Amino acid sequence: MVVITFFIAHWLLCVFFQSFFQHRYAAHRMYTMGPRTERVMHLLTYLVQGSSYLSPRAYAVLHREHHAFSDTEKDPHSPHFFKDVVRMMLHTKKRYEDYAAGRGQPEARFLGGYPEWPLVDDTLRTSWLATLGWVGLYTAFYVAFATSPWQFLLLPIHFMMGPVHGAIVNWCGHKYGYRNFNSSDKSRNTLPVEFLCMGELFQNNHHKYGSSPNFAARRFEVDPTWQVMRVLAKLGVIRIATPQRAVWPEPREAAREAGAARAA
Ligand SMILES: [Zn+2]
Ligand SMILES: [Zn+2]
Repeated sequence: MVVITFFIAHWLLCVFFQSFFQHRYAAHRMYTMGPRTERVMHLLTYLVQGSSYLSPRAYAVLHREHHAFSDTEKDPHSPHFFKDVVRMMLHTKKRYEDYAAGRGQPEARFLGGYPEWPLVDDTLRTSWLATLGWVGLYTAFYVAFATSPWQFLLLPIHFMMGPVHGAIVNWCGHKYGYRNFNSSDKSRNTLPVEFLCMGELFQNNHHKYGSSPNFAARRFEVDPTWQVMRVLAKLGVIRIATPQRAVWPEPREAAREAGAARAA
């Protein structure tokens, strides 16, 4: 029971910080915060994501490319250009690592506006000693609390939590589910899995209203990360910078225009 609780908590916290910090803050600047608060959030993101911590800079560049080129050949991770999820993620990993190491040459419009902390993003993130430390910590926890051998099968997921979430969101969010809005890409809302991904799987809503900090659009849709952000904003920890909201149903004219654009 302790191990399962740890697994669920680590899963939800990892995906929350990915959505809250790397996605909505680094890539989209949906809210602002003071420099000290930013450092605290940055450090918390590292501590929670541990061995699978993603560089906010590389994440932001890659993700901005994903929005600009969604479901075209230039999209870094469209499921419609790969045979399976493993190939898609290996391709994404290569591009991410190039950007994280400063090797890639992204377009200038995708650069800037993300938090950078060389000690965490470069030194700690790429340190084998730190990675082994995290792997050792997760393993020690399982050795201490596991009550059955099968539970050890969950361990590799802790090691690679970030990429596991990326694979689920990038693959399912552009392949399975329903669409609220007409858009030129193939983004979808994958409702039942969305709760496990803290709102990240409202891909269709998010691609249509890219600056809306709330990824939910309809009454039955709930975006857990947005709910936490609302509380943090009320407490004065963050300030919502882009209060735009998704409008559903889509105004008829906009829907017609989008349909015409797609046909063209
Ligand atoms: Zn986005
Ligand atoms: Zn997407």
